[in-house]
Amino acid sequence: MNSELKIYNTLSRETSIFKPIHSGMVGMYVCGPTVYSNAHLGNARTYISFDVMFRYLLHLGYKVRYVRNITDAGHLEGDRDEGEDKFAKKAKLEQLEPMEIVQKYSLDFHEVLRQFNTLPPSIEPTATGHIIEQIEMTKKILANGYAYESNGSIYFDVEKFSKEFNYTALSNRNLDELLNNTRTLDGQEEKKGRLDFALWIKAKPEHLMRWQSPWGEGFPGWHLECSAMSSKYLGNEFDIHGGGMDLVPTHHTNEIAQNIACHHTQPARFWVHTNMLTVNGQKMSKSLGNSFLPSELFSGNHSLLERGYSPMTVRFFMLQAHYRSTLDLSNDALQAAEKGLARLLNACKLVAHLKTSNSSTFSVEEIKEKVYSALNEDFNTPIALAHLFDAAKYVNLVNDGKESLSPADKEIFAVFLNQIVTDVLGLKPEQEAGTEKIEGLMNMIISMRADAKNKKDFATSDFIRDQLKEIGIEIKDSKEGSSFSIL
Ligand code: AMP
Ligand code: ZN
Repeated sequence: MNSELKIYNTLSRETSIFKPIHSGMVGMYVCGPTVYSNAHLGNARTYISFDVMFRYLLHLGYKVRYVRNITDAGHLEGDRDEGEDKFAKKAKLEQLEPMEIVQKYSLDFHEVLRQFNTLPPSIEPTATGHIIEQIEMTKKILANGYAYESNGSIYFDVEKFSKEFNYTALSNRNLDELLNNTRTLDGQEEKKGRLDFALWIKAKPEHLMRWQSPWGEGFPGWHLECSAMSSKYLGNEFDIHGGGMDLVPTHHTNEIAQNIACHHTQPARFWVHTNMLTVNGQKMSKSLGNSFLPSELFSGNHSLLERGYSPMTVRFFMLQAHYRSTLDLSNDALQAAEKGLARLLNACKLVAHLKTSNSSTFSVEEIKEKVYSALNEDFNTPIALAHLFDAAKYVNLVNDGKESLSPADKEIFAVFLNQIVTDVLGLKPEQEAGTEKIEGLMNMIISMRADAKNKKDFATSDFIRDQLKEIGIEIKDSKEGSSFSIL
């Protein structure tokens, strides 16, 4: 491979060559979901984007520690320490314990990401499992003079911090403008400055999720958990920190401030941000009421959809846009993605069965080089896919006898295509999971029928055979046992 991996860094606003801090190893932290509601397709887009980065880094041979947290406490409705606790509110609404809400939506999140064939992270820490670390970090920030106590809560002193450091380095916003445009919210008189944010929040009597601290009973602020957990598992300085672009101005800006105030260094070399999935040009979000659940997309059960699309079609659709561009959900784009995916997967299957000749009439090396250059250019999946389509075209031309391929090239081509499509892009044939399940089910039915026969219950065994025949599955009996075929 001639090119080196380059990644766009929100902090430097430049694309630069990626060199990990520790040779051969990559530490990557991605902000995980707040598990108080079902994951929507926008959330899925962000995690699919980071999944491709994780997979590509693994493919390049790095040992990757991918940490993605679960926010299961401390996230209030507004991102600025106002409003009700998201978990408590949902718990009241669904008449469940906050931890039942956390469990329910963590399971949903994992199921959605499994359907999209994303790899699990190396560590998935929870905010509630790291209260001690968050208290310790708050103590250090207090001791270093960048926070103050006010009525049992601890606030980060943004004004003091910004006298020494650039508080808005990540968002590149003008601090004075930001100050002028920030209102003081009701109930926030405890704060000295309008931009101050909570590290620790005193629990009101009715607040369910609460922990003992040196400042009384309370709970940690949302931004603090990511600072505490990333430094615990990846060190004070690590390679990549990611999340959706909407996290830049507040969550990640505050994370950087906390890390500097505590560890005297900003945490990540590369700050990587994914752009938003939109619907008719508007960000998909729960609060705007335009969110799609992945299950609605799979079933087609949504007023804006003509029919359903499979998880792999949706994954492919997402990879057709660069992760830093917006992507608009539409029936037409999904239909095109369905066709494109089928063509690509078909080429991956076909390539192993191609007839070979003495020499090749095209350069497999050149195609490989183009695909790798695209992926090395800030994980440019749409350009990589365009080159993979050229590769698929060659597969078909060789199959039709219009181009030829040497045995050695065929070997390289087959390995390359399958590695990139399956391992890096995470696209797999749709039926796989379904087929396995059907086989499992059929083996169970066949053994139940054998049981019935042994008990001379021929009415049941014939019933099973006839019913299966009616839905197009034929059972064949032989000396070795029974087998089935789908008609
Ligand atoms: P949340 O559970 O709201 O904290 O969001 C989890 C992740 O999904 C964050 O990194 C968000 O930036 C990201 N996200 C939320 N909405 C969208 C969207 N419409 N498109 C892409 N990513 C999103
Ligand atoms: Zn975070």
